[in-house]
Amino acid sequence: MTISDRVLIAGAGPVGLVAAANLVRHGIPVTVFEGGADLSTESRASTFHPPTLDMLAGLDVAQPLIAQGLIAPKFQYRNRHDGMIAQFDFGDIADATRHPFRLQCEQSKLTRIIYEKLRGEPNFEIAFSSPVRALTQDSDSVTVTVERDGRHETQSYRWLIGADGARSDVRRSLGIEFEGFTWPDRYLVVSTPFDFYGVIPRLDPVSYLADPVRWHFLLQIPKLWRVMFRVAAEETDELALSPEFAQRLMAQVVPGIDRYEIAHTTLYRVHQRVAGSFRNRRAFLIGDAAHVNNPLGGMGMNGGIHDAINLTGRLIEVWRGTKPEAELDRFDLQRRLVTKEHVERQSIQNKRNLEADDNEFRDFLQRTAADPALTRDYLLRVSMIGSLRRAEQLG
Ligand SMILES: Cc1cc2nc3c(=O)[nH]c(=O)nc-3n(C[C@H](O)[C@H](O)[C@H](O)COP(=O)(O)OP(=O)(O)OC[C@H]3O[C@@H](n4cnc5c(N)ncnc54)[C@H](O)[C@@H]3O)c2cc1C
Repeated sequence: MTISDRVLIAGAGPVGLVAAANLVRHGIPVTVFEGGADLSTESRASTFHPPTLDMLAGLDVAQPLIAQGLIAPKFQYRNRHDGMIAQFDFGDIADATRHPFRLQCEQSKLTRIIYEKLRGEPNFEIAFSSPVRALTQDSDSVTVTVERDGRHETQSYRWLIGADGARSDVRRSLGIEFEGFTWPDRYLVVSTPFDFYGVIPRLDPVSYLADPVRWHFLLQIPKLWRVMFRVAAEETDELALSPEFAQRLMAQVVPGIDRYEIAHTTLYRVHQRVAGSFRNRRAFLIGDAAHVNNPLGGMGMNGGIHDAINLTGRLIEVWRGTKPEAELDRFDLQRRLVTKEHVERQSIQNKRNLEADDNEFRDFLQRTAADPALTRDYLLRVSMIGSLRRAEQLG
C-alpha cells in the first residue's frame, strides 16, 4: 500500500485542531479524520489559561478568540459564612505571560476559528463522518482502518496523532491502559442569563464557593453564567436532570432568589485517568485521549493544547531531519509526568478543597493572598505556567 506523506490526526476537537494548525503553519501536510458529521457544539470547556493563550497567539488565533470571549483578570473564593475569603489577580504575574487573564469562551468557538483558518490551506485536508477504528504500524508508517458510509477503508500515513477524546479508539487499538478512577459523584452545569453582578457584591467572573455539602462555582461566559454543582452519588440522573432539581440548587446561590431562567443544564460523570504511555512508535496520544480530570481549575483542554504544542514542535524537527526520532520520547516523558504531577494532582486537590469540612483551605487562601511571594507561586501554579516550566526542566 502506498504511504501518504502526511501526518494523520484522529479527532477535530480543540486539541487535534491545534496540533493540525501548528503542523500546517510549519509546512507539514496534515489529514484530519473526524468521527462526527461536523465540529462538536457540545458545551464543555470555557476557560483558557494565560500560557494557552500565549500558544494560541503563536498560531494567530488568540485575537479572534479573545474578541469572542470575556476577559477575566481576577478570580475569587467565597464560603457561606465569611462571604469573599480571597481574591487573586493575574496582573501579579504579568511578567510571566503576554495574557495575564483567564479567557472565558466556549471551546466550540476555538475549533471553528481554527477550522476556518485551515480550510483554504493546501497542506490541510479534513474528512468528517470518518472515525478511525483500528491501526497497525511498522517502522515507516501507521496504517489505519477508517469507517466511511458503513464500509472500512485502510490508509497509511507517516505518523498518527490520536486526539480522539476520552473514549479514544486510537488508545484502545494501541492496547494502552487508561489508568485511574471515576468519581462516584457527577457535576451538573446550569446555564442562566441571570445578572449575578446585580445581587452579589464584589463578584468576579470566576467565583468558587467552598461548602462541605454543596459547593458550586460561578463562571461567566458571553451572554450567560454557568453554575456548576456537585451531584451526590445517591441522586439519580433522572432527578438531577429534572427542572425542579436545577431550580433547587440555584436557589442556594443567592439567598432570597429561588427562581431562575435556565438556558440549559448538562450532567457529567467525572474521571481521573492517565494513559500508561503517550507514545507507541509512530502513534501518539494527546488531549482527552491521553488524560482526563475533573473540570475544577479548567485544566483538561488547556493541558491537551499544551500536549499538542509540545508534540508538534518536536514532530516538525523530526520531519525536517533536524532532530532524531528519539526526540519524540521527550514528549511522552515531559507531558505524562506533568499531567500526573500537576493536572491530576491539582484537579483532585481543587475538588477536595471545595468540599473540605474544616477551615484549612480558607486559612491557606487568606495566608496566600496576604503574601506577594505566595500569591505569585499560587498564580503560576493555577495558570499552569508552573507545569510548563516543570516540563522544560525535565530536559
Ligand atoms: C463540564 C465540563 C467543563 C469543562 N471545562 C473545562 C475548562 O474550562 N477548561 C479546560 O481546559 N477543560 C475543561 N473541560 C475539559 C475539556 O472539555 C476537554 O479536556 C477537551 O474537550 C478535550 O479536547 P480534545 O480535543 O482532546 O477532545 P474532544 O473535545 O473530546 O474532541 C475529540 C474529537 O474526536 C472525535 N472522535 C471521537 N472518536 C473518534 C475516532 N475514532 N476517530 C476520529 N475522531 C473521533 C470526536 O467527535 C471529537 O470531535 C471541561 C469538561 C467538561 C465536561
